Amino acid sequence: MTKALLLIDIQNGFCPGGNLPVADGDQVVPVANALMKDGRYDLVVASQDWHPANHGSFASQHPGAKPFDMGELSGKPQVLWPDHCVQNTSDAEFHPGRDLSAIAHVQKKGENPAVDSYSAFRDNDRAALTGLADYLRQKGVTELDVMGLATDYCVKFSALDAIDMLPGVKVRFIEDGSRGIDPQGVTAAIEEMRAAGVSIVSSKDILGG
Ligand SMILES: [Zn+2]
Repeated sequence: MTKALLLIDIQNGFCPGGNLPVADGDQVVPVANALMKDGRYDLVVASQDWHPANHGSFASQHPGAKPFDMGELSGKPQVLWPDHCVQNTSDAEFHPGRDLSAIAHVQKKGENPAVDSYSAFRDNDRAALTGLADYLRQKGVTELDVMGLATDYCVKFSALDAIDMLPGVKVRFIEDGSRGIDPQGVTAAIEEMRAAGVSIVSSKDILGG
């Protein structure tokens, strides 16, 4: 049995003060730190949204568009975001309160300007894999706990892809270790994950046991 923790996009850009802040996004930091202590996990992996400045998911790249408008990217519907997590800016850095010592592998994503990548496993068009599934397979991971930012986008798509791409691996979503952008979207995301076979747990279930 090999247990892994996957921390999704716990970056300045998604925390209060960042360019695409998630309400109380920084509240997941102490949860991540507590879970990483005491060798509870055999492996800790973090994803990092890492966009070029001209990324096509940015409203700034679409004349006349505003952030959060629905637009198009390479012919597909795309929420247009404020510029966020641009490579080598402080917005893209991990939240400074987060303990990085236990992290064995950082999976960058969103580098191709022509497609967004909510999931840590593959681009939204499902064509380009990030390599994370292969990495976790090589490490023999049998249980994967997923948490971070934001529940209704990157966390959800990562958990769903984990179910799809890592058959046989037990996938859990840590609810209090995650925050979302839209409250209704969060409720729907949790239902969608549950329906796909993701267990919904609290960090207390993990820490208390
Ligand atoms: Zn992004």
